[in-house]
Amino acid sequence: MIYLDNNATTQPLPEVVDAVAKSMRDEYANPSSVHQRGQSARHKIELARARVAELIGATPRDIVFTSGGTESINLAIRGVLSSRGMRRHVVTTAVEHSAVLRVMQGLEARGYVVDYVGVVGDGRLDEDDWRNRITPDTAMVSIQYANNETGVIFDVERLTSIAAEHGVPVHVDAVQAVGKIPIDVTRLPVNLMSLSAHKFHGPKGVGALFVRRRTPIEPLIVGGRQERELRGGTENVAGIIGMGVAAEAAAHDIGEVMPRVEAMRDRFERDVLNAASFARINGASSPRIPNTTNISFEAIEAEAILLLLSEAGVCASSGAACSSGSFEPSHVLKAMGLEDRFTHGAVRFSLSRTTTSDELGRVVALLPRLLEKLRSLSRA
Ligand code: PLP
Repeated sequence: MIYLDNNATTQPLPEVVDAVAKSMRDEYANPSSVHQRGQSARHKIELARARVAELIGATPRDIVFTSGGTESINLAIRGVLSSRGMRRHVVTTAVEHSAVLRVMQGLEARGYVVDYVGVVGDGRLDEDDWRNRITPDTAMVSIQYANNETGVIFDVERLTSIAAEHGVPVHVDAVQAVGKIPIDVTRLPVNLMSLSAHKFHGPKGVGALFVRRRTPIEPLIVGGRQERELRGGTENVAGIIGMGVAAEAAAHDIGEVMPRVEAMRDRFERDVLNAASFARINGASSPRIPNTTNISFEAIEAEAILLLLSEAGVCASSGAACSSGSFEPSHVLKAMGLEDRFTHGAVRFSLSRTTTSDELGRVVALLPRLLEKLRSLSRA
């Protein structure tokens, strides 16, 4: 099996699996208990917090553990808006993940005005529009760091500065960027940043929200006083410990492994373009995270390609994992102005530290026959 769907989720590292299993066996005490076992679990959580913080240049105190990227995003946006009084204007982008877009739709139903700034060229945010939409009365802004479908990286430093100039709280969805490119919140005027462990070889169902001190925010889940009272409930100790182990490995991978992944991705793209003259790479002329390629095969249905790839033992995806199953063309590619004959045939291959050039070579070798078969069917 050749697994090229790492933006949907990654395989947990062996050391993550070991740490999770060990914690479930040995660290079962409640970290809020004062006895020795409880305090040992508490200590492990704090160690994990320090490792996650280090991955993004944060202080451990500013890390709140959650159940994943989606919860972090919900807490960031809904939590901040609860404490922004009568302000009812939010600015985001047209290419966000559904975890952000669905929150925004919910806000609109409750009377908020949400501006969705579009993209220009090969997926870059329309900076002038972004600048024009944000005013001192804007309640908050939310922007992704890197796109889950195309891998395009926004100029977050610049874009968040524009919001910060107006004193508007800033949330960044960094779920697809963390562990792939260096991130340093000391250099970014952001208040909140969402992370998810399973995107960087950690366990599923655990994530974190960076909340800079003095950010106005209310909890979504109340109960015990855990996580600075921003997220009630007994902690997912095993998951948090696993996230900490994954974060430490990811910090190492950015410099050591990602350049190799990027070189493999670039070679793969060249080989695919040579094998299929009707293919185009979406977002290729913008800065991108090193592991992602989104390739449109003109006039072929992506679902058909994925099915044949799957039969041949290759796992890839069409657009966001959560939107596959429905044949709606990707909102990201539509926002990039792609014509239908390209949006329908877009396949995302996402690599990871476990991908080898041999695997990619095998996929390239498969493609010409597979694509020819589908093109002859569509001509028939
Ligand atoms: N944000 C982005 C950009 C994503 O790619 C994803 C997952 O695909 C999420 C948020 C949601 O993260 P989680 O699966 O941890 O809820």
